[in-house]
Amino acid sequence: MYQGVSSVSLPGVRIVRGACAAARVLPLPRPLVRIRHYVDASADERFPCVSALRLERVSKHWGATKAVDEASFATPSGALVVLLGPSGCGKSTTLRMIAGLDAPSAGRILIDERDVTRAAPAERRISMVFQSYALFPHLDVAENIVFGLRVRKVSPAERDTRLAKVAHLLGLSPYLARKPSQLSGGQQQRVALGRAIIAETPVCLMDEPLSNLDAQLRAEMRQEIRALQTRLRITMVYVTHDQVEAMSMADRVVLLNKGRIEQDGTPAELYETPANVFVARFIGTPPMNLLPLVAGGGGAIVAGTEGPPMLPAACAGGTLGVRPEHIAIGFEDGVRVGVANVEYLGADSLVTCTVGDAQLQARVAGRCALARGDTTWLKWPRGAATWFDDTGRRVAHDSTEAPATMLA
Ligand code: ADP
Repeated sequence: MYQGVSSVSLPGVRIVRGACAAARVLPLPRPLVRIRHYVDASADERFPCVSALRLERVSKHWGATKAVDEASFATPSGALVVLLGPSGCGKSTTLRMIAGLDAPSAGRILIDERDVTRAAPAERRISMVFQSYALFPHLDVAENIVFGLRVRKVSPAERDTRLAKVAHLLGLSPYLARKPSQLSGGQQQRVALGRAIIAETPVCLMDEPLSNLDAQLRAEMRQEIRALQTRLRITMVYVTHDQVEAMSMADRVVLLNKGRIEQDGTPAELYETPANVFVARFIGTPPMNLLPLVAGGGGAIVAGTEGPPMLPAACAGGTLGVRPEHIAIGFEDGVRVGVANVEYLGADSLVTCTVGDAQLQARVAGRCALARGDTTWLKWPRGAATWFDDTGRRVAHDSTEAPATMLA
């Protein structure tokens, strides 16, 4: 629901304030002049759109609901930042506040070091790609792409030049006279992308832009968007709940949970050094194994870690984390486990094992000779163990010592 704005225009759409629960997206009047000539251009493709975005302790409260709670992060110029998290964690609200469609309850938003917290959307110089694409069915591809330029009264010559450049870039030149209904899902997505790019704004916002596409097309478009963003050095904020999208596209990932940022880092940082058990569980398929170090069960689990027994003092009563691909299986050394399930996935197999009350998954290459009901051994290198304290926060590796009680 878009509240707190009167009437705003983004490329190709006008969002009108209303009492209804959802935004009303209205087509603007049909343009009077049609574009006739489309020229393929191979001129310099780099658009003059580099900038940076910064959020400082931004909050949005809807009554008692803290949709976003003191979120702070910065987007380096020309970087792709993904806002990731489960449904309802505050991703769209954050994006809408950056766009100016929702006003923050507290905090500041800066674009290019200019405070735009209270600025109207049109003054922010952002473009936005929606999940639904928001294409006008009655306009052809060319008219859809240049719509925002027409609204902003950009000269016809400039419009034609920019259209040719964008169409060429996106491989849309042969389709400019088609209506959206005559395009595939991927082509429609490209038109929506073209409409954002042609605006040449410093910041481009994307709200789950691939969620309407099938798995294969999503994978292709992920690469396409990333290549385009890198080539044009666009500063992009990209919302998704799909961690594969985040990991494969982002320079930085901002992982949200219940309105708060759990971790802000590179994909590798989130994967290799998760700040807490939420991040460890959210990133990775299957996720990191998290094994509670409770009295009695902890010793057996810790025994899987190779080398002399060591446990960070802060972790007694905490959690041990180990990624499935770091577990070696069947060496008659480490933790004795029962095999609960074996899933053959082609390139590898997932073996689910039980130790005491805990379950953990190991990923092994190719086929696995084990079957449900077998017993075997698991172990993992010392460096593969991640320790979390009893509040769920990761404990740095250098603070290790070995309380004997846990290893008895
Ligand atoms: P996400 O995009 O991560 O799925 P949202 O940003 O849409 O999450 O929503 C975050 C939280 O804020 C949710 O609990 C949602 O119900 C609530 N919320 C979002 N918009 C409104 C609104 N207009 N009024 C009341 N609550 C809202």
